Amino acid sequence: MERPCLSVVVPIFNEEQVIAALYRRLTSTSEGLGATYELVFVNDGSTDRSMVLLTELAAADRRVRVLNFSRNFGHQVAITAGMDHARGEAVVVIDADLQDPPELIGLMLEKWREGYDVVYAVRERREGDTLFKRATAAFFYRLLKRITHVEIPVDTGDFRLMSRRAIEAMKLFNERNRFVRGLVSWIGFRQTGITFSRSERFAGETKYPLRKMIRFALDGIVSFSFIPLQLATFFGFIASAMSFLGILWVVYLRLFTQETITGWASMMVIMLFLGGVQLLTLGIVGEYIGRISDEVKRRPLYLIQDALGFDSREDGARPPAPRKSSHM
Ligand code: UDP
Ligand code: MG
Repeated sequence: MERPCLSVVVPIFNEEQVIAALYRRLTSTSEGLGATYELVFVNDGSTDRSMVLLTELAAADRRVRVLNFSRNFGHQVAITAGMDHARGEAVVVIDADLQDPPELIGLMLEKWREGYDVVYAVRERREGDTLFKRATAAFFYRLLKRITHVEIPVDTGDFRLMSRRAIEAMKLFNERNRFVRGLVSWIGFRQTGITFSRSERFAGETKYPLRKMIRFALDGIVSFSFIPLQLATFFGFIASAMSFLGILWVVYLRLFTQETITGWASMMVIMLFLGGVQLLTLGIVGEYIGRISDEVKRRPLYLIQDALGFDSREDGARPPAPRKSSHM
């Protein structure tokens, strides 16, 4: 099979309620574009009927290709696998739940033809999300922008188009705790954004509970900033400076006055305060060390159980060894 012009990569985790509608919308948009295309679904260990539905689609439509993970590896890993296996000259990553309108792909392709390597979609309005999600997301993207050196655009998810050379660049990254949207900013080339208003989830519930959101946010911060570590140093300085003053004061009282100090309350306050600061900084250091340990183990990023619609030599797992850089 020769390379299609466009690949659409969709991560799927328990999306049985949206797959039919998603397929219809993706096919009708892609057909309207007048370009050859393929749809690459990555089933991220769904426990519902998603894989059954995807298998049916792959059997009926040659442009559908499915990677079936051996278990749930997470959203960021799923889109990585999709980008690894996509063959298109341009690759679009899109959520399954139709919160990202497929109709935007046409505009992205236009920008790509103008010569952009990355066309990302900026969420101008987020109707579908809860107030809590909107508020925390807005805060997170702005915080991240302040503390990183990489220019990560605010309010931008993983819905974006990437050119072939941007995709090849992304394949050079072997990071385990991946924050894909940060890596895409890191690679540079010509990037531009288009705005859209994010609609509601078509059906089903969010697959990003608070626990996953926090982990995701920490991945973003830890992989793109040392500011938390520098904060720890800063706290250390402040605490040392304060204790130095405290020492001077205690010595003065002891040598030059007759005051007897009962002091249980002040002792407790100081001990608890220092204990808290120590545990906090230890925790920050731990976030980095935990991820270092993850990186050095060099486990494979994902394992593929089945691959439908792929040549046989492409099937199977991604090798655990770091991928050698391909042509650029
Ligand atoms: N997803 C995935 N693996 C996971 C969690 C989510 O592949 O462990 C997929 C999910 O099927 C969807 C996309 O990631 O296509 C975004 O998830 P969701 O829409 O639930 O996130 P939200 O829009 O609520 O942030
Ligand atoms: Mg969603």
